[in-house]
Amino acid sequence: MERVKDKIAIVTGAASGIGAACAAMLADEGALLVVADLNLEGAQAQAGRIRDAGGKAVAAQVDIGDENSIEALFDLTLRTWGGLDILHNNAAATSLSTTVDAAVEAVDVGVWDDTMRINLRGTMLAARRALPLMRARGGGSIINTSSGAAQAGALGYSAYGVCKAGIEALTRYIATQHGKEGIRCNAIAPGLIVTPVTRAYFAGETGEMMLSHHLTPRLGQPEDIAHAVVYLASDEAAFVTGQVFNVDGGLLSH
Ligand code: NAD
Repeated sequence: MERVKDKIAIVTGAASGIGAACAAMLADEGALLVVADLNLEGAQAQAGRIRDAGGKAVAAQVDIGDENSIEALFDLTLRTWGGLDILHNNAAATSLSTTVDAAVEAVDVGVWDDTMRINLRGTMLAARRALPLMRARGGGSIINTSSGAAQAGALGYSAYGVCKAGIEALTRYIATQHGKEGIRCNAIAPGLIVTPVTRAYFAGETGEMMLSHHLTPRLGQPEDIAHAVVYLASDEAAFVTGQVFNVDGGLLSH
């Protein structure tokens, strides 16, 4: 059974890691995809892989830090597929966190501003642009991307954690304001998922240490998030909105 058959979906940050896996799984489940990323070549490659596997996908370049670029992404979506049912707001400037984010006392104010502008404001702008398109089709599903870092301060990535906490609040506001229109909005809070951005982090002893904190016998993979995204995008989740769904191997539950 194709669980999101013929639904039109945008996945941002879909050239890499979690977004690439989510775009592929949504396409496998019958959705018509826009594979959007700042990295156009990467988006084109991922859209090509999806088509090679029999799915339907086009690539688009987007910078979620730029309102005009978001507008162009939605225009392309309308021209290509004629509407929108699913928005997976997955993109984030993860390099800001993995290289330069820091404890509150030390964080660079420019990095703080960029993190809020790209990750939090970008998520809001894309969600806001999706609303009238979903309303026109009688509903839709917006899936935002938080992080365990929103709920635990131990990682020390202050700006990143605070922007993700903002995304969780944004999720509840959108769900509250648009639920009666059939528009659902949820967030997924991944734990530590093995992607290009975290691979080095998991190497050697750190990986062993992280694994010991999980309740599951393995670390997270992008497909673990994709299963949750397909569920929240599908009509199986018709009664689920305003939630933050932790997909983290139990990392934050003990
Ligand atoms: P990744 O770095 O592998 O992928 C992120 C993608 O977003 C890249 O393809 C990048 O080009 C794109 N991107 C960056 N800036 C952009 C912009 N301004 N506009 C459009 N695209 C942009 O990261 P990932 O690990 O797959 O993470 C995906 C999401 O999951 C992010 O929101 C991240 O914060 C969140 N997350 C990841 C983990 C993890 O352990 N990997 C944990 C918690 C949350």
